[in-house]
Amino acid sequence: MNIPTVALVGRPNVGKSTVFNRLVGERVSIVEDFPGVTRDRIYATSEWLGKPFRLIDTGGIEMIDEPIMKQIRYQAEIAMDEADVIVFLTSGREGVTDADEELAHFLHRTNKPVVLAVNKTDNPEQRQEIWDFYSLGHGDPFPVSGVHGTGFGDLLDEIFQLFPKEEQEAETEDTIKFSFIGRPNVGKSSLVNAILKEQRVIVSDMEGTTREAVDTYFTSESGRHFTMIDTAGIRKRGKVFENTEKYSVLRALSAIDRSDVVCLVIDAVTGIREQDKKVAGYAYEAGKGIVILVNKWDAVDKSDNLFEEFTKDIRAHFQYLSFAPILFVSAHTGQRLNKLPELLEMIYDNRHRRVQSSVLNDVLMDAVAMNPTPTDKGRRLKIYYMTQVAVNPPTFVAFVNDVELMHFSYERFLENQLRESFYFEGTPIRLITRERQ
Ligand code: GDP
Ligand code: GDP
Repeated sequence: MNIPTVALVGRPNVGKSTVFNRLVGERVSIVEDFPGVTRDRIYATSEWLGKPFRLIDTGGIEMIDEPIMKQIRYQAEIAMDEADVIVFLTSGREGVTDADEELAHFLHRTNKPVVLAVNKTDNPEQRQEIWDFYSLGHGDPFPVSGVHGTGFGDLLDEIFQLFPKEEQEAETEDTIKFSFIGRPNVGKSSLVNAILKEQRVIVSDMEGTTREAVDTYFTSESGRHFTMIDTAGIRKRGKVFENTEKYSVLRALSAIDRSDVVCLVIDAVTGIREQDKKVAGYAYEAGKGIVILVNKWDAVDKSDNLFEEFTKDIRAHFQYLSFAPILFVSAHTGQRLNKLPELLEMIYDNRHRRVQSSVLNDVLMDAVAMNPTPTDKGRRLKIYYMTQVAVNPPTFVAFVNDVELMHFSYERFLENQLRESFYFEGTPIRLITRERQ
């Protein structure tokens, strides 16, 4: 499924990040245990009336040392590239400014729909003052207040009206979508090219239906279909903002969202860096399948136990990714790259495995017999029943007497039992606890 994307643009101080937080609300998952990127709050997935959408705050992509007018133009460009609908934010307090006019002018170049919103319209009297904003030439202004949370229902209704209808992914459903994610220069583009050479297939380069992403489709020797999602941003190189870290992260995030399996690329020469962890954290939060690729294996001096040491290092830095297989590869020599398609197939299949409830409950009973459920103040956790509610990633619901009694460590234990019994290598699994009515 292609989730539609909204970008917020506006001059500094109109309230973009305040409005962003309003639109995303509490629904953003923020996991404190590991360095996820969602806390940076420039990109989030949310929903309105049960329908998902993505939101980008272009103001969060800092353009160091650029004058304001230039920053605004870059932000507008990013929005025009990435979004299905652009929300042009202004402020009712300050009225129409030169920077607003400049931005309005710039946004006239896009054929994407633009919705004009007037923020800081905190009370009804101020709503009368929004007429000035018609002069920007972007249609009816929508009054909102980021601080008070008013006006967002109408704004979201309008946004959803303007999303492209029948957004269709060109690929069929049973294609395995994957992407290479990692810092600049770890070898993502080289890996894309090496895979194409390795697969010795005729590749059809197709423009994405709505966005500029270039996907590549190929079929492996075993006959499975793959979609390789471009993230390297190769075609955008040279634009100033391409080099800003947050923008490259942003592109990576939208690719992760579209992937079934994410190949996290680590440079064998430079080793693990902080930025590697950020993107890995996001892929994990998004519930994606993960392979860790250690690239440039040709370029390291293979001392006695480099292999073991690297593996240990990765496991220590990415503890929450203990389910992810590690593959040591070289884009230059092609070493072990032939193993990647079968690994991706395996993970894809693991993610789509459905476990029968009866079998699941046998495993649950054995688990509880082996390791009794925790107690608190004389009350013991009772797990009545477990059932699988979703695939991709596999998601289980456990019905219990009291959710407060389910401890993190016991959840971990159950997750491990499920992994041992049903083989979910390469994919996160989710365990949800519900109280039985
Ligand atoms: P950004 O630079 O566009 O991301 O703007 P911020 O979200 O950081 O907001 C800039 C300032 O405007 C902050 O001091 C906010 O508290 C204030 N602000 C944001 N939304 C509103 C609003 O709806 N009403 C009022 N009165 N102030 C707001
Ligand atoms: P990207 O920014 O992640 O797309 O990285 P590139 O694919 O552009 O590669 C960055 C640099 O690393 C280039 O100079 C490549 O030639 C080099 N490189 C990529 N893969 C390998 C590899 O497997 N071995 C060696 N020795 N160098 C590599």
